[in-house]
Amino acid sequence: MSIAQNLQSVLAELPAQTRLVAVSKTKSVDEIMEAYQAGQRIFGENKVQELVPKYNQLPKDIEWHLVGHLQSNKVKYIASFVHYIHSVDSLAILIEIDKQAKRSNRVISCLLQIHVAEEQTKFGLGEAEVFALIDSPTFRVLDHVRVVGLMGMATNTDDEAKIRSEFRSLATIFKKLKAERFADDPDFKELSMGMSDDYHIAMEEGSTLVRVGSKVFGERDYGELPPL
Ligand SMILES: *Cc1c(COP(=O)(O)O)cnc(C)c1O
Repeated sequence: MSIAQNLQSVLAELPAQTRLVAVSKTKSVDEIMEAYQAGQRIFGENKVQELVPKYNQLPKDIEWHLVGHLQSNKVKYIASFVHYIHSVDSLAILIEIDKQAKRSNRVISCLLQIHVAEEQTKFGLGEAEVFALIDSPTFRVLDHVRVVGLMGMATNTDDEAKIRSEFRSLATIFKKLKAERFADDPDFKELSMGMSDDYHIAMEEGSTLVRVGSKVFGERDYGELPPL
């Protein structure tokens, strides 16, 4: 199956409220162009050092989403162009994104990453932490970031019931935040959940953004990345 065929088969399954973020990490600009030529415009990368050269080489109507963990000292490299940042997991990083977005005269859409999986290694905020962030006086004065929703990753397991219950708890936190803090904010509407192995479950649980990599581009071959 070609990238274009993979893409069409994933797109054919998406319900109306769900958009595909084609996660192109480790894939070449030629492979990304294959998806671009098939009509895909939203691409996701998990590392700043990989995102920047791809942004430079590829068409400028691509919407780039950063889906991986972001360090404060790297925000300045992407603030002038990044469309969504899915992986905001502290007030400190949000403050830095606001600062760098302001320098580029932009407002950057951000999703707060919530920890729902059992693995210790997954980044993200707990429910109490996300409310504390939203309620902090500092958050209210940030005017170059727009919090548009939540992102989360389920445990890497074959246990579908477990995956479903983790996505459901993420959706529950989303609904609670929407009702209690963002009821008057139409921009707060995104729930980023689901990857190649679990996006069907995620869509059933209300995902609006699925982040699908290997199902579109094929299995990844991790090599060494060049420095930024
Ligand atoms: C790599 C990655 C994906 C896509 O993973 P696949 O299993 O290849 O679909 C989604 N989200 C994040 C945060 C990733 O790093």
